[in-house]
Amino acid sequence: FSLKQTIYQELVEWDKKYFLHPTTVPKTHVEQGPKLIFSEGNGIYVTDIRGESYIDGISMLWNVNLGHGQKELAEAAKEQMSKLAFSSSFVSYSNEPAIRLAEKLVSLSPGDLNAVFYTSGGSESNDTAFKLARFYWQLKGKPEKTKIIALERSYHGVTIAAQTATNVPAFHEFSGSQISGVFHAKPHLTHCELGERSDPNYEGCIRYIVEKEGADTIAAVILEPVQGSGGVYIPPEGYLQAVCKLCDEYNILFIADEVICGFGRTGTMFGVEHWGVVPDLMTFAKGVTSGYAQLGGVLIKQSIRDTLVEYDDVLAHGFTYSGHSTACAVGLKNIEILEREQIVQNVKNMEQELKKGLKYLEDKHTIVAKSRVIGLLAGFELFADRDSETPFDPTVKAAVKVVEECFNRKLILRALRANEGHNIIAISPPLTINKDEIETMIQIIDDSIAACK
Ligand code: PLP
Repeated sequence: FSLKQTIYQELVEWDKKYFLHPTTVPKTHVEQGPKLIFSEGNGIYVTDIRGESYIDGISMLWNVNLGHGQKELAEAAKEQMSKLAFSSSFVSYSNEPAIRLAEKLVSLSPGDLNAVFYTSGGSESNDTAFKLARFYWQLKGKPEKTKIIALERSYHGVTIAAQTATNVPAFHEFSGSQISGVFHAKPHLTHCELGERSDPNYEGCIRYIVEKEGADTIAAVILEPVQGSGGVYIPPEGYLQAVCKLCDEYNILFIADEVICGFGRTGTMFGVEHWGVVPDLMTFAKGVTSGYAQLGGVLIKQSIRDTLVEYDDVLAHGFTYSGHSTACAVGLKNIEILEREQIVQNVKNMEQELKKGLKYLEDKHTIVAKSRVIGLLAGFELFADRDSETPFDPTVKAAVKVVEECFNRKLILRALRANEGHNIIAISPPLTINKDEIETMIQIIDDSIAACK
């Protein structure tokens, strides 16, 4: 044990000294060291190097959709790596997994999204979508169509263009560098009325910007079908359809960011399917490999693809890992398992259990309100007085405390936008979760809320 303890201490010291962590408070990290050093996983459980197991109630970063320790995914990676780990996709080189996965993605995606551009993650996918949209308009002889409209509380990633579209102040304050010409439709879609310009159609907030800036200057609107990191917001019925119609009306491309929603998270293969809309560009990442390899991409509508392929010069965009052979082999196997195990059906069934669980928490605890569940993507809020929607004093950090209590009881959850004074807790477990496991999670949350009183 003492040898193990020595190794553990060494890892903690090296972590503090050499590993600058993403989206972490550096000062606290250097003082306190890593919270857990994960070493193994199995299903919804992850184990830390000291041997303690935790329920992963958020699929790590909303991405480990098939759960941890999935041996078939590991085998698919091993097989491909042993044959050919990586090959270039630049200048017309190709590889079998990338070709097969492209065909599969096209067959799964709605409407005429008929071609794929690969990236290595969500931010790169959104940057790519913006660049493709602008390039498309250039090819159409409308180079002045460059602006992007995103929504309040959106999260689209952290590369500079994606980060500009992200509407979480901390990310903008961090670097101060944004691209120009990105607008956020406000107020939020949950109260989408524009004061004196009150509009019964929810998309009014976007229309307002389009009319103010001029449709001739706008390349695209981007939104998450269900907002994730911004607070788990399910759009009001009719909203996505209205945005889609507005984009058609003004000749603006509609980009759906499916980085969280894609691959079954919301109980359909892609989030947009709930509202029957087909975007012009659809970005994906995370769930395409359940996080087992870094992969993302943009699905492209036929008419846009046709315009792009007319271009008789180099399409000067691409990442070293666009079409990564091993990542694509993992993606193919991941989709095969999703289909074979009828995971989307499991998500639909478990959605009901999660709804019941959150209803139970609302009935029992007067501080719990506004629970939102779609598939296995859920959030709930804490209020000092929920009837009058009186928030907790920001110094109380109610959601952070509940999440800490859950952690002490071996359940990992996440408080969203706590530094802006919100008290929203996200739940998004692996899509393989069963009824008993959901009940265990709810019991732990129940005990944790009680412990905070
Ligand atoms: N888009 C959405 C909706 C996301 O939730 C995220 C990450 O959480 C991203 C984009 C960025 O993805 P990545 O972190 O892989 O760059």
